[in-house]
Amino acid sequence: MSATEQISIRVEPTSTSRLSQVDFNNLKFGHIMSDHMLVAEYNNGKWEDVSIVPYGELSISPSMSALHYGQSIFEGIKAYKFDDGTVSIFRPENNWERFNKSAARLQMPEVPEDIFLGGMKQLLDIDRDWVPSKEGTSLYIRPFMFATESALGVHPSISYKFIVITCPVGAYYSKPISLKVETHYTRAAEGGVGFSKNAGNYALSLYPTQLANDEGYDQIMWTDALEHKYIEEAGTANLIFRIGDTIITPHGDTILHGVTRRTIMQLAEEWGYKAEQRKVSVKELIDGIEAGQVAEAFAAGTAATITHIDRIGFEGKDYTLPPVEGREFSNKVLDYLNQLRYGKIEDPFGWNFIV
Ligand SMILES: *Cc1c(COP(=O)(O)O)cnc(C)c1O
Repeated sequence: MSATEQISIRVEPTSTSRLSQVDFNNLKFGHIMSDHMLVAEYNNGKWEDVSIVPYGELSISPSMSALHYGQSIFEGIKAYKFDDGTVSIFRPENNWERFNKSAARLQMPEVPEDIFLGGMKQLLDIDRDWVPSKEGTSLYIRPFMFATESALGVHPSISYKFIVITCPVGAYYSKPISLKVETHYTRAAEGGVGFSKNAGNYALSLYPTQLANDEGYDQIMWTDALEHKYIEEAGTANLIFRIGDTIITPHGDTILHGVTRRTIMQLAEEWGYKAEQRKVSVKELIDGIEAGQVAEAFAAGTAATITHIDRIGFEGKDYTLPPVEGREFSNKVLDYLNQLRYGKIEDPFGWNFIV
């Protein structure tokens, strides 16, 4: 897929690259930003002033509407470097589509392909030396958009900024995590904004997550708002289970439709498993664990790809899942995706977007 070149992007290269100051063996997630960022402004009903400039501070008005009323959305994507130096972004078209769905729900303008994908491609081309090459490392890409109108009063902003920043990230060795089934607090309700990657969805998760942490769990397993009976997802990742030879993931508009989740369900089908996107009740999961039928449980998201779950707490009782070493499906997925994203094997699905 090639980006169209309709929009002209002004480039202002940095005069002082910070690249030589970065210790690529010690990358704390999200702390070191690459030299450049893409910035686009939306005014008077259209996108204008698209530019790639040195990463740096923005000045904002205290009455900027995103700060007060929360029109603010984002994406998370990763780019990888092949052995021959090729830089490849993993399935960013999916993120572009999802970004525009988030935008529509929050009454924000859509970002056209030539700015979102074309701009991202050009940004990564300029900062290609920032994409780390060691196994397990990647460049994390954060596109985001927020309302910039300087005026109080709840109404859709008349102006927006779309920005893409990137940061090199180290290998992510995720330990298995424990989840607490949340039966009081709610992340999303039918008709709400659960499917969108908007800032407010993360703010609301912090307090209940702290309570779960205090009880000794790493994260929350969210359940439906109405009855707290059906499983939804974890903090910033979708949930996938293997029960027998069936790969199951919760479905519906109250969850964020992850690109990792979609990828894994596609692979499950490809590899001959039964793959189901449907409602999964907490009872089905707990009964399945007790009967020894739940072979695998993991969280799926761009940050870690797969994070195994080893313990689930529900109504004061803990349920333990089988050892990680024996988890045939999730381990195979992780191995396959690692090879595909670093260009070590063929890409039969066209998932690598080459910069
Ligand atoms: C980003 C995110 C995911 C995972 O989506 P990916 O596209 O796979 O990274 C899942 N749930 C929530 C709430 C998220 O914010």
